Amino acid sequence: MPKVVSRSAVSSSTDAQPTASSAASLRVYYCICGEFILVIDKNLAALPRRKTDNAIIIRAQETDTAKARTFKLNVTINDPILLQRQNGHEKQYRFLCTRCSLPVGYQCSPLPIKSAPFVYIFPGALTQIQGQVPTDAFDMETTLL
Ligand SMILES: [Zn+2]
Repeated sequence: MPKVVSRSAVSSSTDAQPTASSAASLRVYYCICGEFILVIDKNLAALPRRKTDNAIIIRAQETDTAKARTFKLNVTINDPILLQRQNGHEKQYRFLCTRCSLPVGYQCSPLPIKSAPFVYIFPGALTQIQGQVPTDAFDMETTLL
């Protein structure tokens, strides 16, 4: 039996249709200190997570099979750090908040941002409500070790 997929009646703001009017559904994320960090066309909570550190994965480069997300980061980039992973080392260029220097994410290649296929956002680092600490903020302590 072929699977029947109904494409009708999708009119409002669900995440099911990333190509439809993405500009209308842009989401803004802030650092815990209140600084604007990220604007993106999808809810971060709906994006996949990395197995190694549970970081949120944002696709920064288009491939034949996957579209890149539309987003803009307002961060400074630190000197790279080396992390030990199960299958070797990983170099991370950390994104820092421009105001309080809190690390909010990283990519694995040097500037510019989006020079790597993915960028990663630390879980609990960003909030959609300015001045409010995200509920999973304390999960970050283990991530940053
Ligand atoms: Zn900050």
